[in-house]
Order: sequence, then C-alpha cells, then structure tokens
Amino acid sequence: MNTLILSAADPQAAQTAADLIRDGQLVALPTETVYGLGANGLVEAAVSKIFQAKGRPQDNPLILHVAQASDMERYCHSIPKVAYALAERFWPGPLTMVLPARDIVPKATTAGLSTVALRCPDCAVTRQIIALSGVPIAAPSANLSGKPSTTTAQHVYHDHKGRIPLIIDGGPCRVGVESTIVDLSEGTPRLLRPGGITPEQLLEVLEELVIDKAVTAQLQAGDVVKAPGMKYRHYAPNAQVLIVKGSRESAARYIHAHFVPGDRVLCFREELPLYENCAPLAYGLESQPETLSAGLFAALRELDDPHVSRIYARCPEGGGIAIAIQNRLGKAAAFQTVNEEESL
Ligand code: AMP
Ligand code: MG
Repeated sequence: MNTLILSAADPQAAQTAADLIRDGQLVALPTETVYGLGANGLVEAAVSKIFQAKGRPQDNPLILHVAQASDMERYCHSIPKVAYALAERFWPGPLTMVLPARDIVPKATTAGLSTVALRCPDCAVTRQIIALSGVPIAAPSANLSGKPSTTTAQHVYHDHKGRIPLIIDGGPCRVGVESTIVDLSEGTPRLLRPGGITPEQLLEVLEELVIDKAVTAQLQAGDVVKAPGMKYRHYAPNAQVLIVKGSRESAARYIHAHFVPGDRVLCFREELPLYENCAPLAYGLESQPETLSAGLFAALRELDDPHVSRIYARCPEGGGIAIAIQNRLGKAAAFQTVNEEESL
C-alpha cells in the first residue's frame, strides 16, 4: 500500500481523509497532543484495524474524537453537569472525559467497558475531518504499541509506512503529550492520566479530584486498573531508562560516575554544558516546561536505537505540565529513579 502524506493546508486534505474514514480505512491525524491513528469509531471492523496496525492489546480501549461538545449526548448517557462545565472550559483541547457509553458505541472501541472516553481536539483540520465524515473518530496515539508517541507526521510515516493509506501533516504537535483523562462515570472525578490540562486547571472547575495511583507509580499485580492502558509498558525506547533526580550538580556527579560508552543523557537544554562527553540530548528548557512536553517524545524516539544501552534522564519537578512529563518518563523508566542527594 502506498502511504500518502497530505499537508493540513492542502484544500483536498480534509475531504480525502473523511472519505477514507467513511470507507472504513485508517488515517493518521494531527492533534495538539500527539498524532492519532484514526478510524470510524462506530464500526467494529474499522476499529479492529487500529489494534492490528499498532499491535495494541485488545483490552485497551480507544478515545472517541468528536467535532463539538454537543456530540457528547450521541455517544454517552447519564452525563453529569460537571462534564458540560469541563467541556465548556477546556474543549476543544487536551481533555478526555470518561462517561457511561450508549449502545451505539461498539465493544471493540470501549474494549468491552460500559464507559467510553471522549475528546474534542484543538486542531481545525481534524475537527473538519470528523465533521465531514459524520462519525466520531476513534484514535489512539499513532505509535506502534509500547513505543514513544508520535508528535510529527514523519514519526507516523516511520512506524506505518506502506501499511496505512493516508497521513495528514499538521506539523509538530504543540502540547506533545497525550490528553488528560478524567473519569466522570462514578462518584468523585478521578484523574486517570495527566496531560495537557493540569490538575490545577481542572480544580478551577471541579470541587474535588482524586489522583489515580497509576499516575504516579508502577501498578502492581492485584491493583485495580481504571484506565486499562496504564498497566502496559509504555513510551519506552529500547534502552533502559533511569531517572536521575536532585540538583543539577548532584545529578551530574551521579551520571559522570556511572556513564559508560553507549549510554546517553536526556537532559534540559540548560544542562548541556555539564554533559559534553556524555552524548547529551536536550528535550527542552527546564525554565519553560511546556517546551519539555513538546520535545519529550521526539527525543525518546531519537534515543530508541539498539546501540544505546542506558539513558540517564532528567525530569522536571513540581506541578502543572511537569506532572504529565513525570508520568511519561516514569512509565518509560518503569518508575526507576535515583537521587544522589537523598543517599548522601
Ligand atoms: P491512547 O489513545 O493510546 O493515548 O490511550 C488511550 C487511553 O485512554 C488508554 O490509557 C486507555 O486505557 C484510556 N481509556 C480509553 N477509554 C477508557 C475508558 N472507557 N475508561 C478508562 N480509560 C479509558
Ligand atoms: Mg498511546
């Protein structure tokens, strides 16, 4: 199969993509978070192509992308008032809400759950494609399952060349990490995955927010899994990743003491001079954490090389978007961290 890449600015792009979606085919779509691998979310045969192309476990449900907030009622029922308030404040944008699903949503999309995850992306061409196709588009991140997410059309081409008919190129993703997922289907709203909308922002609308354990720690056998995707190894390059916490100086001391040829250092741009002999790669500025989220997956993909044996990674501290970076790097590292300051 020939994989066509069309620029989002091409006047034919949206209609070409919508026709393929209506025909049950896969199309890779830009969003503000990461590139998605989209299909008609109401047709089981179309949805199953996503799982096949990604090698995604069947029990990991998909997010349905809608063109506007009023579409929520088509696919969900028993929608709490707070869902409308969140949609009003954050859609279109990087927020996914989990709500009770209507029967129109196939089990292949929800992985057999009674709930469905819904999002309205902040990307004009993708909303246009959804509107033109007339169906919600189920789309997980377009990477092969387990690998770092795709934040450029070239990343998608690398993973799916010859296996999908169309990629819409909307340039590099602005946010760079996946959407924030909030479960509103039972009791107190629960954060299942941190992302582009921060817990602080959510609490401007919500009275309460429970942070699910999977956000900050490796799930153990027997733990209840609220977002099935959180239990899998994720975002991981081939090499072992180790997060090095602590001050700039203590981290550099640890890394220099343990670094061997074949290792790499994933650091903040401000730290590059500290690692001149350690093959450093900067993924953004510590002083501007949104540049770190925007650059993280491209950097992890660059380091996904069989010749790299260990990656020493620096991770921002604190709240806001840093929580999403801590979660993604944490999962890439199976939450393996060292902190030299603590061991002194
Ligand atoms: P991805 O699209 O690859 O970014 O992954 C989607 C994430 O949403 C996964 O972690 C899923 O487990 C989660 N998800 C999708 N639908 C639901 C749902 N109904 N309930 C809980 N989590 C969900
Ligand atoms: Mg994903």
